[in-house]
Amino acid sequence: MIGGLVCETCGVPLFGEEGFGAYCDNCLTSQPPWTAGRAAILYEGIGRSIVLRLKHADRTDMARGVAGLLAQAARELLHPDTVVVPVPLHWRRLAMRQYNQAALLAQELSRKTGLTCIPDALTRSGRHESLDGLGRADRFAALQGAIRVNPSRAAQVADRPVLLVDDVMTSGATCAACTQALYSSQVREVSVVTLARVAHSP
Ligand SMILES: [Zn+2]
Repeated sequence: MIGGLVCETCGVPLFGEEGFGAYCDNCLTSQPPWTAGRAAILYEGIGRSIVLRLKHADRTDMARGVAGLLAQAARELLHPDTVVVPVPLHWRRLAMRQYNQAALLAQELSRKTGLTCIPDALTRSGRHESLDGLGRADRFAALQGAIRVNPSRAAQVADRPVLLVDDVMTSGATCAACTQALYSSQVREVSVVTLARVAHSP
C-alpha cells in the first residue's frame, strides 16, 4: 500500500515529510489536466501480479478484495456528490473480453463508498485498441478524440465532481483523454484513482 508523501496529481510516492501539495518531476514538467490523483499500490512485485490477475483471472473476487485499498487511496478525493466513472475499454476489446476491469473496480468502489457509479459514462473508439508498445507521445496522439462522454449520460455527470477509476496508470495518457472529455461535458472537477501506479513513466 502506497503511503506517506505522494505526488498530488499522480499518486507516485515521494521522499519527504507527509503533507499535501507536493508534485513529482513528471507532473511539474507536464501538469496532468485532472485536479488530484492517488494510487493504492505500486505496479511491481505483488502489485503487478494483483493487476494481472484482475485482468486475466479471478476478476470479480479480486475487484471486491482490492476495493478497500482503492477507497483508502481515494479518501481525500471524495465528495458526497462524487460520481465514480471507469476508464472505458475500446468497444472492440470489450466485445472480445466482455468485461472491463476498470468498470469492475469502479463498481466495487461505489459499493464500498455508497457513491454513484456510471460504468458507461465514457466511451472509447478509434484505431488503437491498446496503447501497449507505444511511447509517451504516441499514446497521447492515439487517444485524440477517441474517448467521449456517452451522450445519454452527459446530464448525469454535468456539474458533478467525477472520480475516474483505472487499474493501472503508466503515462497518464488515457486518464488525460478521459479528463478532457469529461471537462468538455461540464463536470465540476476530475480526480483520478488507480489501483496501481507504474513508478517510472516510460
Ligand atoms: Zn506526479
